[in-house]
Amino acid sequence: MNLANEWLATPPAGQLVAGREMAGGGKPFDIDDPGRATRIAVLSSAGPHDVDAAVRSARAAFESGPWSRASSNERQRLVNQLADLVLRDRELLAELEVLETGKPLPEARACVDEVVAVLRYYAGWADKVEGAVIAAPNEYHAFTTPTPLGVCAAIVPWNYPLSILSYKLAPALAVGNTVVIKPSELTPLGSLHLARLATEAGFPPGVVNIVTGAGDVGAALAAHPGIDKLAFTGSTATGRKVMAAAAANTTRVSLELGGKSAHIVFPDADLGLAAAAVVEGIFTNAGQVCVAGSRLLVHRDSHDSFVAAVVDRANGIKVGHGLEPDVQMGPVVSGRQRATVTDELKAAVRNGATIVTGGAELSREGYFLAPTVVTDIEPTSSLAQQELFGPVLSVLPFETEEEAVRIANGTPYGLAAGLWTQNLTRAHRMNRELAAGTVWVNTFGVFHPTLPFGGVRGSGFGRELGASALAHYTEPKTTVIGL
Ligand code: NAD
Repeated sequence: MNLANEWLATPPAGQLVAGREMAGGGKPFDIDDPGRATRIAVLSSAGPHDVDAAVRSARAAFESGPWSRASSNERQRLVNQLADLVLRDRELLAELEVLETGKPLPEARACVDEVVAVLRYYAGWADKVEGAVIAAPNEYHAFTTPTPLGVCAAIVPWNYPLSILSYKLAPALAVGNTVVIKPSELTPLGSLHLARLATEAGFPPGVVNIVTGAGDVGAALAAHPGIDKLAFTGSTATGRKVMAAAAANTTRVSLELGGKSAHIVFPDADLGLAAAAVVEGIFTNAGQVCVAGSRLLVHRDSHDSFVAAVVDRANGIKVGHGLEPDVQMGPVVSGRQRATVTDELKAAVRNGATIVTGGAELSREGYFLAPTVVTDIEPTSSLAQQELFGPVLSVLPFETEEEAVRIANGTPYGLAAGLWTQNLTRAHRMNRELAAGTVWVNTFGVFHPTLPFGGVRGSGFGRELGASALAHYTEPKTTVIGL
């Protein structure tokens, strides 16, 4: 805790533009520790002028100066250098992530490690993104050159602030773009430190800029005509607004949005492993995970015993402040978020749902909820349809494969699905049918820099991570030479 406290003793001004830290021209806003419901920092929000200055600084750095002439090896060196500095400050960044988000320290450390891995992965790509010689008609010699886009805006949510930022920052920088970051107003601190580290790593001024504040700052960024690409992660509702704003300037967008992922369990699965994965899949980060397996679809033959095993495990979860030893689940991020979850549970109970375990706020400081499992829910009910972003598992029984697919696909989302069965052909059959950007079979929640990640339908479009994400940060320039 000492590291974060020391850091917070002189908190950053709030904006980093053209290599200089400065206070924003907007209103002050508080950053709270959700595990104690106390304020830990106050920043001044960016005003419209600051957003404009950040975009201009990113444009200037892209078009002139050392970054515009940096070789692929130089970009690679700098992105790797940033990874080294993140690793050096691992403990500080992890503590800040605990204080801002509420997640347990080991999970926060894993997030920082993921940032390092993602930076290194894309650093590795910097000198491997190549064009092609095209088989054009004989009287021409034609080739393509992958060209960076220019100024990339990264708008990030609060649940995994550093990891999700790295999914955008690392590929953008590796191929030569400049970046303006807008973290969530709930969790800007770690991102501000990361931006400082980019300066320390040697990125020229203006290559990495950060503006902080609430949705108005994000809206100003999304609507700015100087942005060439907008990478957004957040709720489906905000994603639609962002896309509409970007349309006015024909800005490219990639959208990583909400989810209501189904975890489907057949009786032939290893049910012990499946129960552990179902519990981890929903209660990690107190259910505030875009891919949270918030719907358990379990075959009627094993429904009762499987639900009992899940409840047993859920009751064993140690809930507490993320810095307390052995804590497995922290609070939800805010009082508002907790009220949303409890209101939704009350409405579900009024409509006939049964809370098998949990359902209550914990009587301690901070925004804590007990791990909750709910049965007797209609697949069409709000609890089974809408992303809740809390530690609540909705259980839905099924009898046939077809029914499982119908329920799994029967929401507006399509981010991820989990499938537990030893039957290989069934796994392949269902994999084809499930409307999801990722299907995990006999495992759940596996993320890796090499694995493309994203959604279909209301969960967005475009993929982050993996080699394919590089295509979102370059365009091929076609050159045709008459012979
Ligand atoms: P949110 O949509 O409220 O906010 C996301 C970001 O957008 C924040 O930085 C916010 O300040 C900004 N913002 C708000 N209004 C804006 C506007 N009008 N224009 C531009 N920017 C605006 O989401 P949240 O509550 O921070 O995060 C939770 C959501 O994020 C959940 O729906 C979750 O599923 C989703 N999420 C998705 C993924 C994924 O990869 N698919 C990953 C994590 C979280």
